Amino acid sequence: MNAVPLKDVEYEKPQDGQSCTAHAWARTPAPVAPHEKVELKERIKRLLKEKEAVLVAHYYVDADLQDLAEETGGCVSDSLEMARFGRDHPAKTLVVAGVRFMGETAKILSPEKTILMPDLDATCSLDLGCPADEFAAFCDQHPDRTVVVYANTSAAVKARADWMVTSSIGLDIVEHLHAQGKKILWAPDKHLGSYIQKKTGADMLLWQGSCIVHDEFKGIELDLLKAEYPDAKVLVHPESPAAVVAQADVVGSTTQIINAAQTMDAKRFIVATDNGILHKMKIAAPGKEFIEAPTAGNSATCKSCAHCPWMAMNGLRNLAEVLESGRNEVFVDPAIGKQAVRAIDRMLDFAAAKKAKALPTAGLEQEAKLFQGIGPA
Ligand code: SF4
Repeated sequence: MNAVPLKDVEYEKPQDGQSCTAHAWARTPAPVAPHEKVELKERIKRLLKEKEAVLVAHYYVDADLQDLAEETGGCVSDSLEMARFGRDHPAKTLVVAGVRFMGETAKILSPEKTILMPDLDATCSLDLGCPADEFAAFCDQHPDRTVVVYANTSAAVKARADWMVTSSIGLDIVEHLHAQGKKILWAPDKHLGSYIQKKTGADMLLWQGSCIVHDEFKGIELDLLKAEYPDAKVLVHPESPAAVVAQADVVGSTTQIINAAQTMDAKRFIVATDNGILHKMKIAAPGKEFIEAPTAGNSATCKSCAHCPWMAMNGLRNLAEVLESGRNEVFVDPAIGKQAVRAIDRMLDFAAAKKAKALPTAGLEQEAKLFQGIGPA
């Protein structure tokens, strides 16, 4: 394996005297009383209609926002489907309940639409840990490599990439590039990159970022929990450390994990991903039991305790406020957006071709021609 420990990313960087996660937790909306919840939901439904807006929510945000997205004709999904849904939906305004890179991706794909977010400070440790200037310097050092970046990056980092991938399609895309003999520069998630490298055997140079939520899952404690529940199947998101992935019955994106819970012949599951997903899993697989994978233990720091502090910044109150005021609009420099859209479109085209079962036949050959000569920008 050709992994180079390029950069150790420290997430508890002071920000205005506070650590990143402390800043995020401090901004998490206060709980909403039941009567206020009803009022807020009605207000949001009315505003979505008035503003010709649609709500696009991630599986990790508050359950009320997920329900609201579905009830109002929006979408609750993983970042691949959020991007696709937002691009294809006719609404003039997309309200993205998730984190900053998701809002930016929506804007890049739909520059003519207004993109709003409940809190523009909702970010991601992977995005924070991969500054565009440092990443560009890294790419400059390796001009022979095809640059593949995870969705959890800034618009400027995507602009530097040849491909953007999400966890649901990263493995397929790297496999495809590897089959073409490409050497890959991967950023920013080291665990996902390492997992894909092992599965594909591709030559991958890995940026050393990680997700503060998945990084907290502990292999030793998971082993002990499995002994307690020997009948449970283990579902793991590949942003988790290798010792956790090694114990999985299924490794997959959020959507793939939900599908596994639905289709697997088991009554009990241990789940290693953000616990926001449990809301959807319980709906998708009623009668089954879900246990959160352990984040505690001797080496625990628990910056997240299995819930993303930035996803938690999305709430009913700030959603209603941005819809009413039009504040918190996401802007992306058009020149950067124009560069970044190439990497995102390649992934969406690849996903569409895969879905249509056009691969690996004529579609692949066409694609190979299309990307001939395209190296790191
Ligand atoms: S859960 Fe992890 S990868 Fe997802 S937004 Fe939060 S920090 Fe980023």
